[in-house]
Amino acid sequence: EIILETKGLTKSYPMSGGKELSVLEDINIQVREGEFVSILGPSGAGKSTLLRILVGLTTPSKGEVLYHGIPLPKAYPKIAMVFQSFALFPWLTVLENVELGLKSQGLSDDVAREKSVRMLDIVGLDGFEDAYPRELSGGMRQRVGIARAIVVEPEILFMDEPFSALDILTADNLRGELLDLWIKKKMPIKSIIFVTHNIEEAAFLSDRAIVLSHNPGRVKADFFIDLPHERD
Ligand code: ADP
Ligand code: ADP
Repeated sequence: EIILETKGLTKSYPMSGGKELSVLEDINIQVREGEFVSILGPSGAGKSTLLRILVGLTTPSKGEVLYHGIPLPKAYPKIAMVFQSFALFPWLTVLENVELGLKSQGLSDDVAREKSVRMLDIVGLDGFEDAYPRELSGGMRQRVGIARAIVVEPEILFMDEPFSALDILTADNLRGELLDLWIKKKMPIKSIIFVTHNIEEAAFLSDRAIVLSHNPGRVKADFFIDLPHERD
């Protein structure tokens, strides 16, 4: 089943002298349930711009994004995002950061707490509920970012270079843990769209790669990767 589809997405930014910078041109992609898709491409290819358009943070110059056949902004997609720079609220504890999205959905304090504690346990942060982000290492902060995103049970989890701000060992560990959670279906999500410029990372994690070319950003390749693992 197709969850997300784009039709003729094009984005350009105005430049000085009345010129236009064409960042994305005619992007047509479909994402189905169960797919772990990487969006690959060199720096400046338009990966972040594409991701921001997919989640509705940026509007395209042309074309549309559809969730279950309904175009943004009419669609009300169940999505969440993990950011490169974690984007945690520093004045809230780990638990409060994770609870926030659930409370804004109208869940009671008790239910929000219970779900958040369980999710923190899943990402390996049992016992850190009352810590503040500044007391945690980068890897632990990104675990909070992941818990906060998946606790709302999004259909699609968007990840924008989530491990590129971490040292190599921490990134390797988190990558392995993310893959394990995905393979064992421990996250209440259907698909992942993962932006990276790291080909090895894409090959390790995802079962499909969409490669953007640079200047302008077009889909240069869109292919499935045979993985050495199967999902449970
Ligand atoms: P990537 O994530 O692949 O590195 P980006 O989507 O961040 O690429 O950027 C693609 C191009 O679009 C870059 O040249 C960038 O400078 C430009 N760009 C991104 N956002 C804006 C903006 N808000 N205004 C003008 N130019 C932008
Ligand atoms: P990334 O960390 O994905 O490479 P950047 O640091 O390039 O992202 O961009 C961060 C933010 O700045 C984004 O919201 C992007 O749209 C915006 N941005 C990037 N390039 C430009 C630009 N040339 N002019 C204006 N805004 C930009």
